Amino acid sequence: MRVQPVAAACLAAAVAAVAAPPAAAETDVERVMRSPAYQAAAAHLDADRGRIVEEAIALQQIPAPTGQEARKAQAFADMLRAQGLRDVAIDAEGNVTAVRPGRGRGMVAVVAHLDTVFPLDTDLTVRREGDRIFAPGLADDSHGLAVLLGLARALDAAGATHDADLLFVGSVGEEGLGDLRGVKHLLGAGPYRDRITRFIALDGTDPAEIVNRGLGSKRYRVTFTGPGGHSYLAFGTVNPVYALADATTRLARLRVPRGATLNVGVVQGGTAVNAIPTRAEMQVDMRSLERAHLDALERRLLRIVRRAARDENRARSTKSGRIEVTPVKVGDRPSGVTKASDPLVRIARDAVAAHGWTPRLSTQSTDANVPMSRGIPAVTLASGLGGGEHAAAEEHLDVEPGAHARQLRMNLAAVLAAAGA
Ligand SMILES: [Zn+2]
Repeated sequence: MRVQPVAAACLAAAVAAVAAPPAAAETDVERVMRSPAYQAAAAHLDADRGRIVEEAIALQQIPAPTGQEARKAQAFADMLRAQGLRDVAIDAEGNVTAVRPGRGRGMVAVVAHLDTVFPLDTDLTVRREGDRIFAPGLADDSHGLAVLLGLARALDAAGATHDADLLFVGSVGEEGLGDLRGVKHLLGAGPYRDRITRFIALDGTDPAEIVNRGLGSKRYRVTFTGPGGHSYLAFGTVNPVYALADATTRLARLRVPRGATLNVGVVQGGTAVNAIPTRAEMQVDMRSLERAHLDALERRLLRIVRRAARDENRARSTKSGRIEVTPVKVGDRPSGVTKASDPLVRIARDAVAAHGWTPRLSTQSTDANVPMSRGIPAVTLASGLGGGEHAAAEEHLDVEPGAHARQLRMNLAAVLAAAGA
């Protein structure tokens, strides 16, 4: 029994050795955070918080539903110009872009979106409750746009330099049926399409969250039309509602690949109880991280709706006309992943952790989907703290000074490390 304490002591020594490994190599984020440039820029951001919030509110006050971002884009471009940024422009799709030159070794796009989910007539009044500022579109994503302005000022004040050029972007079409059209253009046809090597979207209100998996989706509006007629006099005529119902039933029975989803979200049609409808419509949403799964689901959807139309044409009379089906793709968000082992994800994790949050990788549909689908390393980081996004009365930004300052510094550290400061 006397050997046991010795064994325990040996074990304790072994555990201690494991717990205290030799000093690990310094990470990019640690190196950045030790630099005088980061420290000066971070101090500037701290002092600039009030202005950042004011600018976020000024931008939030300009209505910008998806597809109607032009006024807000103009205002944001003016603010970037006033900041002294170079090459401030509004591209052919409506994105605002501005460059902070580095040493030309790559280009890091830092992106917040201009559009909101709220229609033009939404009451945009701002309401404060303690540290919370309630306003539709403030957290998602006007504050993100203001963070870009704040970062530009802080980097200038600190005289920071970086290897990669920084491209600040206010994007259009991020929400809903905007279909990420802004970033699709940025990377597909825009003037910087061949230069962007890394992509950081600032969007979301949970600073622990790092989006490195972009959930892709395809959305369809499928319309069935037919000749219609009196419910009694034309009884026996093909009925678009029957074709639609057949299609939805088949879709409901479809076995979707693991991790993929399919939903019939809207069904409408018909005009009167005593009329055979001339039209019936459904809206279908399919999602997956895997492009192949999405493509397969799309093919099955198209097969099913065509078959439903054909079967209805066989089941009832087509004497006065046939059922036609028109599937229209109304959404196509590419999927993609930035591997957890990618240096950019590592930078994001280190930046989040260094500012007091436990990093969590997650799956979302954001502007970062597009670069991910093209193999450009991309992540989405929080652009603020708060919650209630997409709900006019609930959306709020939390500007509790300590956490707000940490979130801004986290964005700064990630951007500087990504750009090779
Ligand atoms: Zn957003």
